[in-house]
Amino acid sequence: MSLLRQPILLLSRSEQVKKLVSTLPVSAGIVTGYVPGETTQAAVDATARLVDDGLAVTLDFLGEDTLDQAQADATVAAYKELLQALAQRGLASRAEVSVKLSAIGQALPGDGHKIALENARDICRSARNAGTTVTLDMEDHTTIDSTLSILRELRKDFPETGAVLQAYLHRTEADCRALAYEGSRVRLCKGAYNEPESVAFQDKLDVDKSYVRCLKVLLAGQGYPMIATHDPRMVQIASSLASRYGRRPGTYEFQMLYGIRPEEQKRLAASGETMRVYIPYGQEWYGYLMRRLAERPQNLTFFLRSLISK
Ligand code: FAD
Repeated sequence: MSLLRQPILLLSRSEQVKKLVSTLPVSAGIVTGYVPGETTQAAVDATARLVDDGLAVTLDFLGEDTLDQAQADATVAAYKELLQALAQRGLASRAEVSVKLSAIGQALPGDGHKIALENARDICRSARNAGTTVTLDMEDHTTIDSTLSILRELRKDFPETGAVLQAYLHRTEADCRALAYEGSRVRLCKGAYNEPESVAFQDKLDVDKSYVRCLKVLLAGQGYPMIATHDPRMVQIASSLASRYGRRPGTYEFQMLYGIRPEEQKRLAASGETMRVYIPYGQEWYGYLMRRLAERPQNLTFFLRSLISK
């Protein structure tokens, strides 16, 4: 892992840095590179552009770790507005939504788990009415058991609900086995949080090896794997494993984040693969931006320059 990853992730928790960075307009180059805008309209417009290019989309209304019930309710309302807008623009067959449970109440003291489940159910219902699906993002390791238990509950009524598993965790290969059943949509990513040695591989090579083991389980299984990585090696290995396990395009998909390797996104789509782009939008772009910078410290100079030239 990069030497700068940990310090940047730690900085992302600093309120002072957050205040300074949040004064950046969303139009600052470093922000728009990763987040197309703050409004539903901007998100839907970005979706339409990508769909025109032959890509599929999943949208994330930014916000996480809320300890405020009103904020959680506002996030649910934002998702419902988005889903309606996608349906109205005829985009729902190509665009779904990704939801962080901590943004809809999971971290609230006391009834957080129950509140997040009910809010997620509400969003799933709106998604189904719009003609699309929901995927539950995965956050830091302390939330995983709660998130997987909410997933199990939701799948009773909405079996199309997707899950995310993070290859950097020791437990994930086993979680992949448990979720590789028919109809189960599972996004496999490497993992974006700063996790301790007790639960996560620390070395990039170990994370990559785990990613490949998890890919094998998911591609050999009966579910619908969603291969979320920008890593050229992982994309290549996933493609070979898909043919080894007799998977045709359309029985799995690739996913990448908005603004990262856009040419590769188009190349995969043009080659007949389903390529889904994850679009984050909204005012709460700070934590998301810091995680992307932690993965790509080369962008730090560019980032500091946008702060100084404010
Ligand atoms: P890395 O090893 O980080 O990067 C491999 C290569 O990709 C790099 O060498 C570079 O060529 C390119 N690259 C990577 N990042 C950048 C960048 N910022 N700019 C330019 N090039 C870059 N994580 C979670 O913990 N929970 C989630 O729910 C979650 N959902 C995700 C959904 C999607 C669709 C994707 C793509 C990622 C998601 N992630 C999530 C983030 C993920 O865990 C990783 O942190 C992130 O994708 C970086 O890992 P990587 O596989 O791209 O490989």
